[in-house]
Amino acid sequence: MTDLTRLSAAQLAEKLTSREVSAVEAVQAHLDRIGEVDRAINAFLHVNTDEALLVASEVDKERSLGDAMHPLAGVPIAVKDLIVTKGQPTTAGSKILEGWHSPYDATVVRRLRDAKMPILGKTNLDEFAMGSSTEHSAYGPTRNPWDLDRIPGGSGGGSAAAVAAFEAPLALGTDTGGSIRQPGAVTGTVGVKPTYGGVSRYGAIAMASSLDQIGPVTRTVLDSALLHEVIGGHDPHDSTSLTDPVGALVEAARNADVKGLRIGVIKELQGEGYQDGVQARFTEALDLLRQAGADVVEVSCPNFRYALGAYYLIMPSEASSNLAKYDGVRFGLRVVPDGAPTIERVMGATRAAGFGDEVKRRIILGTYALSAGYYDAYYGSAQKVRTLIQRDFDAAFTQADVLISPTAPTTAFKLGEKLDDPLAMYLNDVATIPANMAGVPGISVPGGLADGLPVGIQFLAPARQDARLYRAGAALEALLEDTWGGPLLAQAPEIGGGK
Ligand code: GLN
Repeated sequence: MTDLTRLSAAQLAEKLTSREVSAVEAVQAHLDRIGEVDRAINAFLHVNTDEALLVASEVDKERSLGDAMHPLAGVPIAVKDLIVTKGQPTTAGSKILEGWHSPYDATVVRRLRDAKMPILGKTNLDEFAMGSSTEHSAYGPTRNPWDLDRIPGGSGGGSAAAVAAFEAPLALGTDTGGSIRQPGAVTGTVGVKPTYGGVSRYGAIAMASSLDQIGPVTRTVLDSALLHEVIGGHDPHDSTSLTDPVGALVEAARNADVKGLRIGVIKELQGEGYQDGVQARFTEALDLLRQAGADVVEVSCPNFRYALGAYYLIMPSEASSNLAKYDGVRFGLRVVPDGAPTIERVMGATRAAGFGDEVKRRIILGTYALSAGYYDAYYGSAQKVRTLIQRDFDAAFTQADVLISPTAPTTAFKLGEKLDDPLAMYLNDVATIPANMAGVPGISVPGGLADGLPVGIQFLAPARQDARLYRAGAALEALLEDTWGGPLLAQAPEIGGGK
């Protein structure tokens, strides 16, 4: 029998619809795989065995009665532990939320449940999604399935590693500065940050509200389009939710063709600072796209060089405000110090014990940047940079339909390599942050290997034009797979050291 964990979500969905395979078999195969490899990978913080099997058995029953079902009904999925789920813990990778259960489901989770997609569990992340390596999780790092001594990217390393290690065909991530796309790049998976407002943020624990976006993590571009159509669309619970219908994404992925598509190479996001192997795979991808009839042009976005600096003012500022609610009173952990248990002392002791170093660093930075007297100089200036970045995108999109760059400057680095150097860690997001600053959508697709490790290629599109990402992404995926003779992940080494 085919190994069900090796199928794409689209392939698995076909087998479920034709009833060649049952949803219980599909879910069980993934639970078995988690049991085999997750001790080595640590992608999951919580495995939702009973409920996933229960939903699967309901799907099988309804299908046997001939009921009309969502095409992805029975296809299992993993959810980043920043997204709240009723009936399962949500930790945000932090000790401060250890043991906390949400009283409600995030809108995206509700949509998965409506589609009857069994939720396999919750995936690991950098604490409150702050990081690029998943080493800032309070529950230990996740490891990259390509090399267990290396990071799987971050903050959504758990979701990316789960999908790359065939523990789940699909996962959800969140992307504030690159946390879906950069883990995608370094694990050889596909990750999409939708247009800001295209997917509801209701129930995604807020990091930086003006930048955060939930999106798909998958092994194929088509699978991302399928999942995006499930989770996207208007939600009255999110005041920034767009009213546009989501549609035509799957169609775009199925009719991928770059003939006549104007692809703009962002001059500032390549060359110096990018690892040689990354640059080589990027250049090859451009050649393939050109040969397939794309019109490849160079565009310049001069203000992108300020994006990282401005992000590290805006993001901590918003986070310092969003994280003020973890006060030892309303959620999760409460530490009562010796002596008089005044509100300030309980709050101080709880936050000192509950937050890790990176979270504290950003709260301090954000509080400082927002304080009276400094607000205009820091936060105000960063907001102006944001406008300049938006203008760079506007100008570039008059010359090109989509933009292209490497997703991340390097392949996966070793665990511990950048942990004590926050600035080196922040530089991982140099190519992904501009999209969040402007609210435009982006996709990372596998671009091949450099020294045996995956490289990601990023496409960016104008706001609301997510379909273009699927068209260009699926076309590049097909061109590259022709040269590799199959999916990149088929070349990944088998994972040793199972349970
Ligand atoms: N790595 C970036 C940061 O640490 C992005 C995080 C994210 O997208 N959640 O802020």
